[in-house]
Amino acid sequence: MIAEVIVDIANSNVDKVFDYIAQEDTQVGSRVSIPFGTRYIQGFVIALKENSLLDVSKLKKVGAQIDDYPILTKELLSLGDFMCKTNHLRRIDCMRLFVPTQLRTNKAKPLLVNYIEVLPTFNKDELLLSIRTNAKKQRDMIEYLEVGNQYLKAELNKNFGANNITRMINSGYLREFTKHKLRKPYSIEKKDKKVVLTKYQQAVVDDILNQNNGVHLIYGVTGSGKTEVYMHIISKVLQQGKTAILLVPEISLTPQVMGNFKARFGDSVALLHSGLSDGERFDEWQRIREGQAQIVIGARSAVFAPLSNIGVIILDEEHDPSYKSENNPRYLTHDVARFRAEYNNCPLILGSATPSLESFYKARNKQYVLHELPERANKKAMPNIQVVNMCNEVLNGNLGMFSAQLLNDLTLCVQQNNQAMLFINRRGHSSYMICRECGYIPKCEDCDVSLVYHSEDNQLKCHYCNKRYKALTNCPQCGSSYIRYGTMGTQRVVQELRKQFPDVKILRMDVDTTSTKNALTNVLQEFANTKPCILVGTQMIAKGHDFPDVTLVGVLNADMSLHYSDYRSTERTFQLITQVAGRAGRAEKQGKVIVQTYTPNHYIYRFVANYNYVGFYDKEINLRQVTSFPPFAKVLRILFSSENENKVKAITKQVYKSIKELQTKYIADFLYCEAMKSPVSKIERKFRYQILMRFKLEHQQEIIDSIYNTLNCIKMQDTQAFIEINPSNLS
Ligand code: ADP
Ligand code: ZN
Ligand code: ZN
Repeated sequence: MIAEVIVDIANSNVDKVFDYIAQEDTQVGSRVSIPFGTRYIQGFVIALKENSLLDVSKLKKVGAQIDDYPILTKELLSLGDFMCKTNHLRRIDCMRLFVPTQLRTNKAKPLLVNYIEVLPTFNKDELLLSIRTNAKKQRDMIEYLEVGNQYLKAELNKNFGANNITRMINSGYLREFTKHKLRKPYSIEKKDKKVVLTKYQQAVVDDILNQNNGVHLIYGVTGSGKTEVYMHIISKVLQQGKTAILLVPEISLTPQVMGNFKARFGDSVALLHSGLSDGERFDEWQRIREGQAQIVIGARSAVFAPLSNIGVIILDEEHDPSYKSENNPRYLTHDVARFRAEYNNCPLILGSATPSLESFYKARNKQYVLHELPERANKKAMPNIQVVNMCNEVLNGNLGMFSAQLLNDLTLCVQQNNQAMLFINRRGHSSYMICRECGYIPKCEDCDVSLVYHSEDNQLKCHYCNKRYKALTNCPQCGSSYIRYGTMGTQRVVQELRKQFPDVKILRMDVDTTSTKNALTNVLQEFANTKPCILVGTQMIAKGHDFPDVTLVGVLNADMSLHYSDYRSTERTFQLITQVAGRAGRAEKQGKVIVQTYTPNHYIYRFVANYNYVGFYDKEINLRQVTSFPPFAKVLRILFSSENENKVKAITKQVYKSIKELQTKYIADFLYCEAMKSPVSKIERKFRYQILMRFKLEHQQEIIDSIYNTLNCIKMQDTQAFIEINPSNLS
């Protein structure tokens, strides 16, 4: 037999299938050692076949199988195929997604622990008689041990002396053996809440279980009890002897979700995310593969969990940008989840209070089944959202970052011994400019996106078409010279709050304060235990958290993401504000939300304040249609990067030329196509260039395939090329 092997080297030159002569016991999906050039490396057997097109006498032979089981299932192998084709990935990059690095690089090993078992030959009375009365340690040991019991060897050694234990082993009274000890990821201890589903929850559970496949979108307001719906469905799926995957966007949320799930499902839950230690990840992965854990909870990469017989896949907060992998290998979790759901003939569930426009659009067009949870599970009203015009604050002489209204409500909140969350969206490396008198924000003439200020050359740039504009010194709308730019970060907010509320505990939560493994849990725990308290944070605080005493939520600068240079910035802002607002008043106490903005007349605020997602969707989807942006068109970026600027420039030019030729063939489809330096023109010493295009959907597959072909035919010379479809980050 001939084995088709992918070699474990991440280099485009060896990104192909190699033929080897198989051993008798070579299995599809196994990791094998193979002779490659002058050395042995590892590879993955992706198929076996009778014949090779190559001269068989010249083929080398597969070496030993590395694991005692095939590490890749048939399902994962076909998923790999699918991903390579649709995302233009190197095969090995896909394989590496499926196998934990710790296993692949042999960095983590099972943790073996030595135990002692007391054998039936151990007769306490006889032994005590045979030992001197003054040998205290030995006598204690014999008193302590009981036939049939097992003890940790290290403990016994410590308490009774290693010599004494060894002597007992040698005399045949004790037996030493090793056990595989599992390293368990941390989760918050929780009690299982027994709840009766609301009629809405019950209807969703029943509907999905009845249909038993297809893609389902659960549109449920914050606090509507989506988690409870997931748990009920998973519980049914387990009863049928199947398994389940639940993905959550933020690693920061997993300890809480995990706590809830552990309380209900016990040890059948496994956790997979990049915050685990090597050993934990390795053990959790093994537990899943061996079928000891039937439920996998994790961030994006958990979609590759080595489960078989999957009964449901759930993407919670499906609109979240983290579901898109923006580094190599690039993929969209929705696509992977859908592939696996179809392969296993099971439902895929997408849940959100603010579904992505794309998903809601598909639901409206009956490609997805739409389910709604229109009210909070505890029937409490949604918190009142008040939009505050920050331009008025300036006119009234308040140049600070907090409006009079917010300060007032904060004071009340802490006086009543409650908690507040202040959200500040500090995203991106540079920011837009804004007139502080009238709220004017410069936009690109051609693209209807806000311009981004680049401090390095003091210019405004459009991240969509690369058009440049002079930085503002005076407002073209009102003439004011009171122009502001730059971001206001969490740190400055905390400083300011400490001045205003010297006696109140103020906590901060952002990537800088939560970089170590336990820091995040500590902040959350401290917040949970402190009253009054104000928590300041980035989007990390927006999602999932369920703190009953939060009565006030403030969004400090809602515009910051609104005018980000991305066709999705309005959508993102709507999602973020709705998510943060959802943290207020979740239990008994009524909540309130203050949204501060310099552009209160933007249509988004009308919809946000009324929790009118559908109204917002209708408005926004119409805009996308009129301007030909996704989901009505495709945005495609080819990103080139290299340490050698001349080479990357030359290749960009060459590819651009071929794409221009392609454009003439599809002249009616192309809406836009330009080559340019990337907005962030250098990262880690690599120069970045890009070709950005937008085309209609009708011939999209042909166009995308031709672009893949073009790239495959060009010799890349120390340059990397990545294709991104509808990228969410254009930096
Ligand atoms: P979502 O994810 O939709 O924002 P959660 O799943 O976090 O909402 O649920 C919000 C709160 O409501 C949680 O504290 C949860 O325990 C509670 N809850 C969910 N379902 C019910 C129910 N049927 N009856 C009472 N409380 C419920
Ligand atoms: Zn102005
Ligand atoms: Zn532009």
